[in-house]
Amino acid sequence: MKNLQEILETENGRTFLKDNGVYLDTKEFADSLDRPRNANCSEKFVYGAQQLYLDYGLGVTLKIAALKELEQLGVATDFIWIDTDKAGSDKLITRFLWPGIMDESSKGYSVVSVKRSRSKEIRFVELDKRHIENTRRSFAEVLKASEIEEDGRIFTNFWRYFQSAVNLQELNLSTTYFLLYNYFDYTPRSMLSSKIKETQSFKNEVNRFIAQIDDVIFEANKSVERLVNADINPQVHEFGEDYLPLFVTCESDLRRQPLRRVKEGFDSYGVANCNCGNEMKFYLGKKDTLSADDVFEKENWSPDVTLPIYINDSYSGAVVGKSSALYGIVLNDVMKNVLGKDPIPMLVSPVDPRVTRDIGNGLIPFYFTKSELGMVSNLDL
Ligand SMILES: [Zn+2]
Repeated sequence: MKNLQEILETENGRTFLKDNGVYLDTKEFADSLDRPRNANCSEKFVYGAQQLYLDYGLGVTLKIAALKELEQLGVATDFIWIDTDKAGSDKLITRFLWPGIMDESSKGYSVVSVKRSRSKEIRFVELDKRHIENTRRSFAEVLKASEIEEDGRIFTNFWRYFQSAVNLQELNLSTTYFLLYNYFDYTPRSMLSSKIKETQSFKNEVNRFIAQIDDVIFEANKSVERLVNADINPQVHEFGEDYLPLFVTCESDLRRQPLRRVKEGFDSYGVANCNCGNEMKFYLGKKDTLSADDVFEKENWSPDVTLPIYINDSYSGAVVGKSSALYGIVLNDVMKNVLGKDPIPMLVSPVDPRVTRDIGNGLIPFYFTKSELGMVSNLDL
């Protein structure tokens, strides 16, 4: 099945994307935007979203470049940092890489114990000062051996965020903004998924989705099949009949677990079983009146990849990556055909030659190898 890059190579493929609300040109995308349907907002408003990493490769950096360009075209921009995923879902969440010494396939420098953090959301991963100090020392040795660190300020500026953060979410957010500001001289307004999910409008949208969960599952699977039949990789699996779009964190060991729907007579429950033996169970209601209000009472719930559905009406458009563009088509089909929504256009961040040249190894290697950087020492985060 074709990935996005392969789809982009043919005229038919590009037409397919356009017909499904996926734009490839920033100006054309900006012109297509309306004001958000559901917001007190008089201007066009676009968001990008990404898991909150410690360092970023080309894909994410191109999203920020596209948002900066949109802002220059008069569009307001938000960036939604997903801090509600497992720390083990991508290696750049807990580690950064260094070219030459640490290549793509190696583990890189971890800032937490990866083994102990893997199953937890990053906001629940506490930092261990000794682990960080060991990482700092061995990284300093590498810089010294590479003869990069001529002026201690660069290293100090980078590292001071590691001293003040108490958990991985805080650490990643502050280093992210430090790195982005250094590279782009621009940062989009920052939102965290752990905060957005607590708004009433978000919860209402999740409830609207869950109230129609059987139709949602049917439509999503039909859409996945439509993409597969067109030889396109939908980037999501088929949805099982016990599917729910939510996760909960176990209170005993902080592991994040998916909620499944279990029916007992006319009643439905959201149930998650943790590896530690703990069972979490929430009442969802009777058929046709399902809601996740019981789940929302706990702060430790989080949404899955359907998050764009719940914020669709608050924005005019979204800047997406290669896989989110494709599963975004599935989400759009659900919005149109089940939820009565009008899906907002998506922009696949275009290639920016400057970013492509600079960010092959990540923002951290770029920061340390460009001596003109490191000047932003008073950045107020
Ligand atoms: Zn547990």
